[in-house]
Parts: sequence; C-alpha cells; structure tokens
Amino acid sequence: MAIWNLGSVNADLVYRLPHLPAPGETLAALSHQRGLGGKGANMSVAAVRAGGDVHHIGAVGEDGVWMRDRLEDYGVGVAHIRVVDAASGHAIIALDGSGENQIIIHPGANILVEMPVLEEVLSRASAGDIAVFQNETNVQRDFARAARDRGLRVCYAAAPFSVQAVRDVLDQIDILVMNAVEAAQLEAEMGLAVADIPVADVVITLGADGCRWLHQGRERHFDAPRVTPVDTTGAGDTFTGYLLAALDNKQDMARAISRAQMAGAVMVTRLGTADVIPTQDDIDQFFA
Ligand code: ADP
Repeated sequence: MAIWNLGSVNADLVYRLPHLPAPGETLAALSHQRGLGGKGANMSVAAVRAGGDVHHIGAVGEDGVWMRDRLEDYGVGVAHIRVVDAASGHAIIALDGSGENQIIIHPGANILVEMPVLEEVLSRASAGDIAVFQNETNVQRDFARAARDRGLRVCYAAAPFSVQAVRDVLDQIDILVMNAVEAAQLEAEMGLAVADIPVADVVITLGADGCRWLHQGRERHFDAPRVTPVDTTGAGDTFTGYLLAALDNKQDMARAISRAQMAGAVMVTRLGTADVIPTQDDIDQFFA
C-alpha cells in the first residue's frame, strides 16, 4: 500500500544572533544554517524511515529544487512535487543564546497546489491507501474529499491550528491527530468536546505525557517512553509519519501508536528537523 502526503516543503533558515532584533534594528548573525523542514516534508521523511511507500504531493520554487532532491535521496517519491514560478516555502528562524526564538514563515509555493493536478495524482492511488495532509498547503478539503471518494483512509494532522481549517475537513477525514494545545483550541473555539469529535479515530499527543486515542466512544491512554529531551521540534510530525506507516502496514492502532511514540521520543533527543528523524534501526538501538 502507499501513503499520499499533500504537504509543505520548507527551507528552515536558522540564524544565531547575539540577541533578538528590536524594531528597526539591524543585526549581523553569528552563524547560519539551512535545513529541510515543513510539517509535510517532516512527515514524509518519518513515514519513509518507518518503512512506508510515500508519495509527496506539493510545490517548490526553483530555489527549492535542493529540497525535492533531498527528499528523493531519503527515499520519498517526489514525482508529484512540482517546481513552480514562486519562492519556495521557508521559515526564517532567529535564535538568541538563551533558547528564545522569532520565526517568520512564508508559505510561498506550498499554497500553489492545483486541484486538477491532485485529481490526476490520486488517480494513481488504490483504495485502502492512506492520504494525509496538514495545514500548510491549500486545497485541503478538495484533497480530502477526492481521496475519500477513491476509498483512501484520510488523516488530518491539524497543525498549525486553525478552527476554520478543521471545520472545513471534519466530515471528510477518518483520523485526526492533534497535540494538546490544538485539542484545547478546538474545544474552546468550536465548543466541541474532544470525546464528541465526529471522526472515527482521534489521537491527541501529550508530549512527555504520551497520548490519548479516542475510538467509538472509548478512550485509551498511552504513556510515553522516558527520555531526556534536547529539542522537541518535529516530535509530532515524526509521531504521525510513523503512525501512518504502521497503519499502512496493516498494524492495528494500538501497536501503531506504540511505535510512533518510540519514534517521537527518540526524535526529541536530537537537534534538528527532517534530516535527523530516526530510522527503525535507530529506534531499536535506542531502546535495546
Ligand atoms: P508536537 O510536536 O506536535 O507538539 P508532542 O509534543 O505532543 O507533539 O509530541 C508528539 C509525541 O512525541 C508524543 O505523543 C510523544 O510520543 C513524543 N514525545 C514528545 N515529547 C516527548 C518527551 N519529552 N518525552 C518522550 N516522548 C515525547
């Protein structure tokens, strides 16, 4: 089976600074690093490292061909990442010495995906495949509906959170993954208790406290493995990528969640995003 991921591809441009700039201030950076990021790209890399057959669907500009190439090197199917006439999505991340940050995100090419292209891509998918999307692209509802119509199991990772985006897709998805902050926002802004969300499987990740799985009126809690976190960036994306690869591999939800939690736990012991997402071997060695 396969995983079809409509997702963002972002360059993470990280600048270390003596302090965060004040309005009007010009500052020279102490160092600069460029990495592959974006929730979509992270999930694709995680799902591939979990053993999935992953097709990424999205767009980059000419300045982002290196990101498509890197995803391909990692084993992600990139035939459906188009190169368009726009800047690639990117995040400008300013860090001071104390761990504070300021982040500017430009969606750029990520929101230039066209539905006719998606229809054509989905015509290659098979019933029973998994479709996944997050909230950093456009045409999400159309994608979810088209995937559902073709008999795919549709997963939405509701981040970055927008109540409107959730409302738009709630009746078109089979699996909803959120972190605790997003779940609280959904409850507050939609007035909808988590237990009443009309989606077959709802998974709420709780960081070091593990996660909750709600299914058919029942709820189950899973403890997270204990680790010493270094950088929690990308934990949720790693979790979701591993979860979907396990489900696509016909594992049941409880086993898939357990593996996803192990992947998320190893991920928080590492500094970085897509490039450092753990492999199955890394996870086995970590917990050996
Ligand atoms: P997000 O990155 O979307 O905010 P979480 O912080 O909830 O998501 O993390 C996702 C998953 O990663 C958790 O459910 C857990 O399995 C794992 N994880 C995150 N932080 C830790 C931690 N400090 N210790 C162990 N596991 C963690």
